[in-house]
Amino acid sequence: MPSSKPNRTIFSFEVFPPKRDMPLDTIYKTLDELTDLEPDFISVTCGAGGSSDGSNHRTIELAASIQNKYHREGIAHLPCINFTKDDVLDMLDELDKNGVRKILALRGDRAEGITPKQDFRYASDLIAFIRDRSGSRFQIFAACYPEGHIEAPNLDTDIRNLKQKVEAGTDRLITQLFFDNEYFYEFMEKADKAGIHVPVEAGIMPVTNKKQIERMVTLCGATLPRKFQRVLAKYESKPEALRDAGIAFATEQIVDLLAHGVDGIHLYTMNNSFIARRISETISTLL
Ligand SMILES: Cc1cc2nc3c(=O)[nH]c(=O)nc-3n(C[C@H](O)[C@H](O)[C@H](O)COP(=O)(O)OP(=O)(O)OC[C@H]3O[C@@H](n4cnc5c(N)ncnc54)[C@H](O)[C@@H]3O)c2cc1C
Repeated sequence: MPSSKPNRTIFSFEVFPPKRDMPLDTIYKTLDELTDLEPDFISVTCGAGGSSDGSNHRTIELAASIQNKYHREGIAHLPCINFTKDDVLDMLDELDKNGVRKILALRGDRAEGITPKQDFRYASDLIAFIRDRSGSRFQIFAACYPEGHIEAPNLDTDIRNLKQKVEAGTDRLITQLFFDNEYFYEFMEKADKAGIHVPVEAGIMPVTNKKQIERMVTLCGATLPRKFQRVLAKYESKPEALRDAGIAFATEQIVDLLAHGVDGIHLYTMNNSFIARRISETISTLL
């Protein structure tokens, strides 16, 4: 599938399926509200660590609902380290039958107590496999890391690996969350020099909870700018104030990215449609 720069800025959301002990339909109210905002697509995460505990079925089911019930593009995340080639073929089949033709192909993180399967080592192995078996049937998205992936020795090495991932058949990239746009701009320059020319959507997470963001930042290695650390410290015990400050910070980040001509904004909604709405309303005329 040819990859080309879009004419307009893509605006998309990420959601996660409810925990296994919660009914799936607890998310439908959120999806009602998110789809009202008319995003270009909604992507659905797949279990922590991409474990094969059945959570991938929830991912596929939700992506299929977004596609068929809400008539919006649904994207299924597919982390591969805990799956075999046969598992992946089954999932591709299920996605295809449900009309879901967009996949975010990932390696996934190691999950405690699960020994990774040996069929896929990197996301690029999965992407090459999907291309080999399905040609251009699926549009393939992949992850990239403006500050470098946490396991990579440095950003240049990570970008060299990213180039292989793009050459394996990636159509579009979505970034890990970041809070300082300068990392994104430097990354884009380096990626361009390395010959990576597929569209890149900037992953933005509105921060609304101090503990949650500190855990995320530890896991993914994103830098929290000093000015935002001060906001977190000042409002950590005032949830509404912190929420409003988080929305304001994310909106300012997005406005700056749009002014720089970013290909797309991917909002990590954390299933919070109120926040997605506040941001969407402010930026809708800017896209
Ligand atoms: C937008 C987005 C959505 C995500 N959604 C999910 C989700 O739903 N579920 C989930 O479990 N995780 C998710 N993740 C997290 C992701 O699974 C982790 O960041 C994981 O550690 C790496 O996945 P990857 O696909 O980027 O891996 P890869 O592209 O395989 O890269 C992993 C590491 O290997 C290195 N590498 C790659 N190729 C080579 C090579 N040929 N030789 C040597 N080194 C190499 C890279 O530099 C990097 O350090 C998401 C991440 C992002 C950015």
